[in-house]
Amino acid sequence: MILKLRRGAPEEAILQMEQRLHTAGVRTERSLEPRRVILVTLDPVPAALSKEIASLPIVAEHHPLTHAWRQVDRAFRDTPTVVNVGPYSIGPGHPCVIMSGPCSVEGRQAVLDNARQVRAAGAHILRGGAFKPRTSPYAFQGFGVEGLRQLKDAGEATGMPVVSEIMDGSLVPAFLDHDIDIFQIGARNMQNFTLLKAVGRAHRPVLLKRGLAATVAEWLLAAEYLLASGTPHVILCERGIRTFETATRNTLDLTVLPLLRRWTHLPIVVDPAHAAGAAALIPTLCRASVAAGADGLTVECHLHPEEARSDGPQALLPGELKEVVAEARILRSLFA
Ligand code: PEP
Ligand code: MN
Repeated sequence: MILKLRRGAPEEAILQMEQRLHTAGVRTERSLEPRRVILVTLDPVPAALSKEIASLPIVAEHHPLTHAWRQVDRAFRDTPTVVNVGPYSIGPGHPCVIMSGPCSVEGRQAVLDNARQVRAAGAHILRGGAFKPRTSPYAFQGFGVEGLRQLKDAGEATGMPVVSEIMDGSLVPAFLDHDIDIFQIGARNMQNFTLLKAVGRAHRPVLLKRGLAATVAEWLLAAEYLLASGTPHVILCERGIRTFETATRNTLDLTVLPLLRRWTHLPIVVDPAHAAGAAALIPTLCRASVAAGADGLTVECHLHPEEARSDGPQALLPGELKEVVAEARILRSLFA
């Protein structure tokens, strides 16, 4: 159950209630609300105990849990979560945040040139993979830790926070050492629970991409792992799912946007690039995503897409990115 307590409920009474639940074997978690305490139970509550707790004078509202997730549930926050990254705020009520840059970090000068162009196009956060999850073991795997350094240096040179994919929990210290602002968990690792726990413990903002064939429930439970491990700064990223359709790389599922708004308080970003797989389709999908309520977009950009070491066909040119940024700004103001 989710228990919304009365404003000003005395701490002693709250502790007593928590104690009552804990002795019955029910773990609880408190929400980070500024105005009042919200509590969620993590284990099943026997009916009699549920009735007893619900009738306590400090309880203003109680909601049954209708899904398997707990802390990511919409009812666990009074206001939606906004994730702050550098000077930017990602979430409802804020401008659409654009993350852009190359699919892979391809070298010091290349990522710096790219960063300058995406910055000039109006993007806010620099993306770039240093550890690449490639289908073939012979494809470019990324420059590893050296790539993180190059990405961060390019971000600092252009005044942009950076986002990069982490594929292994043992790399958390390297990501922290290089001050990677957002840890991306890629589609292929959405249910790598060991990785989710390790990343959650790092308390950094996380961009959690939806798995290739993940249901919304599985995705939200993956996000729940991050919150349960310690980080509340989770951004969901829809990036297309596998369907029978082969004309596009994946199928962008925008249905999840209004659905997630009802089910969770977490901010939502859309990545139309990995869904479409073709640059020509991306501007339209960006418009649709912002109109459907996306709090941000992530799109790949390359100065010479035909030479990109990964995902060239879906990379926008800087000029195209500039238009996407301008349109996103206008649409956000109309639909937010
Ligand atoms: C990427 O962002 O470059 C990437 C590999 O994304 P995804 O995990 O969504 O395929
Ligand atoms: Mn890519």
